Amino acid sequence: MPTEWTQADQLDAAAEAAPSKPSFAFFRGRIVPYADARVGLLTHALNYGTAVFGGLRGYWNQDEQELFVFRPLDHFRRFRDSAGLLRMDLRVSEGELWDGLRSLLRKEEARADRYVRALAFYGDETIGVRLHDLHPEVALVSFPFGRYVENDESAHVCVSSWRRPADNVVPARGKIAGAYVNSALAKSDAQLAGFDEALVLNESGHVSEGSAENVFIVRGGIAATPPASEDILEGITRRTVLQLLRDDLGLEVAERAIDRTELYLAEEVFLTGTGAQVTAVTRVDHRPVGPGVMGPVTRRLREVFFDVVRGRVPRYRHWCAPVWGDGAKP
Ligand code: PMP
Repeated sequence: MPTEWTQADQLDAAAEAAPSKPSFAFFRGRIVPYADARVGLLTHALNYGTAVFGGLRGYWNQDEQELFVFRPLDHFRRFRDSAGLLRMDLRVSEGELWDGLRSLLRKEEARADRYVRALAFYGDETIGVRLHDLHPEVALVSFPFGRYVENDESAHVCVSSWRRPADNVVPARGKIAGAYVNSALAKSDAQLAGFDEALVLNESGHVSEGSAENVFIVRGGIAATPPASEDILEGITRRTVLQLLRDDLGLEVAERAIDRTELYLAEEVFLTGTGAQVTAVTRVDHRPVGPGVMGPVTRRLREVFFDVVRGRVPRYRHWCAPVWGDGAKP
């Protein structure tokens, strides 16, 4: 360890911590070397945020020597819906996106846990803020990936001073690239202040979600999460977890508005997302959640969740699409 920690050293350390670059990309309908999938400086999406994206995970199942992508058709449906909100006609179906992803993952020799980024963006190199008379491009890339929230068994979150944009400002139920400036502001302010993650209120002052996660509380033994009308992204993990809580943990679940102080009074708080998976929150704004350690519902939910995503639960096996297997459609 050098005594003088220079900026160059820090950049080297950051490069080491960054995920390894993909070798290939699915771009313009075919697999190309990642280095060849390039765009120009005037690209509309780069200048105006006119892109939408998706984030999926592939889970390696060691026993079956299989990589399972979790709910790809649901992710691609939301991806196409998000694109539709920006008036993009992607001219590619969910099934075709899955075929492209599967080919990409095979080409990448994907045999470990991975993240998949789907991206649709206006690729025109032109000046002028608008959504019409532009041409969308579609890309998929994937790389090995572990945890997104480092401290996912005992996260300390803050309530951010930033507000979640209302649906009439930027459509919240679309995964719209430009809107993620809001998430980036909230996340950096939280992390630089020593928190693991930020929770963001909407303009009504209700809890909406984390910077890249949906949020749940357990209060009075009932699990609750904000409804879709609270300016949230309609998370695939949120939908999955609602079902697991109800059907597998036998809990009563409610989709209802949540006030900030309920976070302080809840027995348990947890975050859900493709990146965050199920992240236990044990402190909010320096207050312990319940006894300040992961609660029994979150613990049990994490066990069930990780079994489900790795394809170990037969009744949820249809959510897990095999990359190397016989190619049956998910
Ligand atoms: N909210 C936001 C703002 C997000 O970025 C994400 C991550 N996609 C989520 C919620 C969780 O969504 P999902 O479970 O579909 O990953």
